[in-house]
Parts: sequence; structure tokens; C-alpha cells
Amino acid sequence: MKIFSRILVYIKPYWLSLTGSILCIIFYTIFNSLSLFTIGPFLQTIFSQPDQTSSVVVQSEGSSDDLVDSFIPKSLQAKKEKILQSFYEVLQGENRKNSLKRICFFILTLFFFKSFFGYFQIFLMAQVEQSVIRDLRNDLYKHINELSLAYFHKTRTGQIISRITNDVTLINNGVSAGFVTLVKNPLTILVLLSLAVFLSWKLTIISLVIAPISLGVISIIGHKLRKQSTHSQEKMADVTSVLQETISGIRVVKAFAMEKFEIGKFTSETQKYFKSLLKITRTSNLASPLTEFLGTSIAVAILYYGGQQVLKGELLAPEQFIMFLVIIFSLGQPIKELSSVNNRIQEALAAGERVFRVLDTKPIIYNTTSAKKVSDFRTSLEFKNVSFYYNKKDLVLKNISVNVEKGNILAIVGPSGGGKSTLVDLIPRFYDPIEGQILLDNIDLIEMDLASLRRLMGIVTQETILFNDTVRNNIAYGETEKSLNEIIEAAKIANAHQFISNLPNGYDTNIGERGVTLSGGQRQRLAIARAVLKNPPILILDEATSALDTESELLVQQAIERLMKNRTSFVIAHRLSTILHADQIIVLDKGEIVQAGTHAELQNKPGLYQKLYNMQFRL
Ligand code: ADP
Repeated sequence: MKIFSRILVYIKPYWLSLTGSILCIIFYTIFNSLSLFTIGPFLQTIFSQPDQTSSVVVQSEGSSDDLVDSFIPKSLQAKKEKILQSFYEVLQGENRKNSLKRICFFILTLFFFKSFFGYFQIFLMAQVEQSVIRDLRNDLYKHINELSLAYFHKTRTGQIISRITNDVTLINNGVSAGFVTLVKNPLTILVLLSLAVFLSWKLTIISLVIAPISLGVISIIGHKLRKQSTHSQEKMADVTSVLQETISGIRVVKAFAMEKFEIGKFTSETQKYFKSLLKITRTSNLASPLTEFLGTSIAVAILYYGGQQVLKGELLAPEQFIMFLVIIFSLGQPIKELSSVNNRIQEALAAGERVFRVLDTKPIIYNTTSAKKVSDFRTSLEFKNVSFYYNKKDLVLKNISVNVEKGNILAIVGPSGGGKSTLVDLIPRFYDPIEGQILLDNIDLIEMDLASLRRLMGIVTQETILFNDTVRNNIAYGETEKSLNEIIEAAKIANAHQFISNLPNGYDTNIGERGVTLSGGQRQRLAIARAVLKNPPILILDEATSALDTESELLVQQAIERLMKNRTSFVIAHRLSTILHADQIIVLDKGEIVQAGTHAELQNKPGLYQKLYNMQFRL
């Protein structure tokens, strides 16, 4: 119920369109049902004798000597006859030709209004549905952007995408099912039933007694079929997975001479699939003759009983009897639709639960109410007894203390998994320390406004993230007010101007999704140009480990050196030149600083640094 009311909140702003749509549904249903009522006069006009006037004699149900009939007041019977009579009279002309004309015109008018309201019902409802979808998607996307990095490590990308695409669509289906099906179908059923009762309450009761029996049988078969089809799909998946395993592991199969075993496995799966398919065929082929037979039984029962009455001249006039049959059989569709509406609503509610779970997830990193904006970096950035873990069991950083003065370079080295990336991720507050503090100009980062803090930092990582956009917009990402000249200047510093100028449309070349059309070195230089343009006082750099060709390497290195000039840099170092230039080096191992100092100090001390230096940094 909670999910339902939360979805309603999204619908609320569009209540006017929704009300309009519901009104249109009501009119549509009325005109639709009325159109069935023209069958009577039409048949009567066509089949009456030329010399007959087309006035109709409406037989009274009360004329049969049934006991129950005494419950129907005679005045009601008379009213019914009067209504039918006046309806027929409206359509009656001086002669049969004229009546036919009138009836055709009447049918045309009814269908015109029916279509008119049908169109506006769909149009207005689409407006509601699409608005709800749009608003929900936008809210989800906005919220996902605000979530902390930790959320994205815990949640698979596919899952997040599925929330925004599939689940929102399922909610939409539920909304339309809820409002259209739940309004239209019960209303249609009500109107049709009233018309049927109006024509003959006895025949209606007979029909209603037989109908549920056959509907029950049909729904049992449908349920069985659904179950069997799921089972069969699972069997097909088994066949596919054996096939895929064998083909991808064919070397192993051959090496172990297991062909016979694999063939046996495959045949046993195809046999199971074969059996499941046969079962489905049996059920589904039973379903159609059975439903047809049951349908016909209802029809025959009504035809027999009703026909008898018609022949006796009791109960109904022949054309009314046909009208009655059409009305009763028109009830099938709305009843069928109504029986499936629950599934769609349940699906929508389940999807709603998943969507709202995302919307209810609170970001772990957020601005405190007293968060202060920072505009510059003046003196130093200090880690003070910082500890951190992703999972409670494993401390990834243990009691880290290091102070970096403005303008200095801190190089972080250490074996893989030592905690280097985690350490630098704490500076832009992708995560907050579990213990200890990080102080920028002696103020705890936690007390600072997140966006203004991040504006002080430029981050260049190994994986260069480029967007499916022009070179120019990729460099200017987030700095939309920068001019082309400034962008070109940045690209020149980053050694990127040359290759950009050689692209087909220069700075306006679209570089494709994730920059696939560029080489690794070019992408890195674009990322460096981006950082140059942002011109942040603090730089976080994760040097690429993968080797570029010598020329690219030289260009990238030169660009990085220019970028670091006059900034405070935190570098996860893989290059010799970086550690040589660093004012301070820390060696991180298993989350602890095991050594610290300058290259000159550490070079000759026995320890991890020496080992790493000999292995990684010697050219
Ligand atoms: P380095 O950069 O030195 O290779 P990292 O900081 O990437 O080290 O990783 C330090 C430790 O933290 C490793 O044991 C790693 O498995 C773990 N780790 C890194 N990121 C996550 C994460 N998002 N969730 C859980 N554990 C992580």
C-alpha cells in the first residue's frame, strides 16, 4: 500500500489529464455499448415484411407463468417496453428505406463519438503515463548521481540500468492497467450486463451460471500452460549451457577423451526438452478445442432455451434475442482483460519497491548542515591518524599520518593492494575516514562543502573517462564558460593540440563512446588537458602502469610535468622521474606507511623501497 501511495504522488500533478481520461473512458464505454443496441432496430428493419410498419411488439417476460416472475412488478415491465419502444421510434422512418438510413446514420454517429472519446482517452492517459515515467526516471537519475561511490561498488551496473529502464516501464504498465483496465472493463461489464438484464434477466442469469464454469476451466488450463512453458524454457537453457560449456571447453573434452560423456549429457538434456515440449503441445492443443467446446456449450444452452422462448413468442423478439447474444459474448473480452490486470499491477508494485529502494538509499558522503564553502588552498593538506575500511573485517588504511605543504609533490609507492588508490580517494571525499581526520588548511574535510572542495582538485587516473562528445566539450567538461582559445591553450600544454588539429573536424570532432577512436596516449593527454583547463591547486594523479610507445610516453610525461608545475600533487607513482622529483615519498604496504622520506634518503636504506626501486623504477 505504501508503494501504491508513493506512485500516486508521481501521478498527482497530472490529475487533470487523468480525470479527463477517465471521463473519456466513461463516455467511450457508453457509446461502445450503445452501438450494440442498434443491432435490434437494424435487424428488425431488414427482416420485417414490406407491408409491416417497423413498430415492434415487445413481449413481456411477465407473460410466462414462472413463479419468480411475480417478483417483477408489472410497472417495471411496462417501463422497459416503453423505453424500447421509444428507442425504436426514434430510429423509425416513414418506410423501411428511410429507417435503414436513420439507423445507419445513428450507427455512424455513435462510432464517431466512440472513436472521439477513445482517442482522447488514450491521448490523455499517455500524457499521464509518459509524464510519470519521465519524472521517475529523472528523479532516479538525479538520485543515483548523488549517491556515494561505495554504492556503485556494491551494485552491479546492469542492475542500476534495469531500475531506470525496465522497472520504470513496469510501473508505467501498472499505472495504465490500474486506471484504464480497472475503470474501463468493470464499467463495460456493468453496462453490458445492465443491457442484458434489461433485455432479459432470465437469460442473463442462465448465461452467468454457465459462464464462470467455462471461464474456470480456461483459467486452469492457462495457469498450467504458463507453468509448463517456464519449465520448458529452463530445459532449453540447460541444453544451451551444455552446448556452450562443451564448445568453449572442447580442448579439455578432447584431452580427457570425454566426448562420449558429453554427448550423453547433451542427449539427456535434449530428451528432457523434448518431453517438456510435448507436454506443452498436449495442454495447449487441449485448451483450444476445450474452450471452443465450452464456449459453444454456453451458446447452445442460451440458443436452446432462448430460441424456445422466442419460438413460443414469449420472452423476447427475435432481433432482441440476437442483440442479447451479441451483448453476452461481448462480455468475454473485458472479463479476460480484468483477470490479467492483477498480474500487471503486482509486477508494477514489485518494480516500484525496487525503484523506491534506490530512491531511499541515502548517500554516505554528504554535506553537513554547517558545511562551509572553500575557495582556495593556502598552506597544507594533512592526514592525521587516518584509518579506513571498506568491510569491517579488513582495515585497508591503518593510522596514516602525513603532511603535504602547498606546492609539494607527495609520491605514494607500494605493492599492489597496499592501499594507494584508497588513500588518494579520501582526498576528494569519495570516502570518509573511519578514524582520524584529513585537514585542509587545518580544517577537517568533513566540515567542507563537497562541491567546492572537489573544485579545488584535478584528478587524472589510469582509466581516462571520455564522453561521447566533441574533443572540445570533453576538455571543457564542467568548465562550460571557457573559450575555445583557452581550450586550445590547455591542449597545447597537454601536448594534445597537434593530434587534435589532425582530427577530421579538429576540436569539433566527436570522439565516440569512451573515446574508442583515440589511442591510449592521446586519451591520457586529453585528460591532462582537461585538468590543465580546470587549473586546480591540488592534483591527484594515478600514473599509468601500462607502457605506451616511447614517443607517446615522452609526450605524456612532459604534459604531466607541465601540469604539476605550481600545484600540490599526490601521485601514485610508477615513473622514475616522478619519484626523483617528489618532495616526499611514502611507501604503503598492507595499509601502513612502512617507509617515508625523499628518494635520496630511502634509496640506500634496506627495506621495501629499495626492493621496489630495483624492480619497478630502474630504467
Ligand atoms: P592499491 O591502489 O595500492 O593497489 P587499493 O587501495 O586499490 O590498493 O586496495 C587496497 C585494498 O582494498 C585491497 O585489498 C583491495 O582489495 C581493497 N579494496 C579496494 N577497493 C575496494 C572496494 N571498493 N571494496 C572493497 N574492497 C576494496
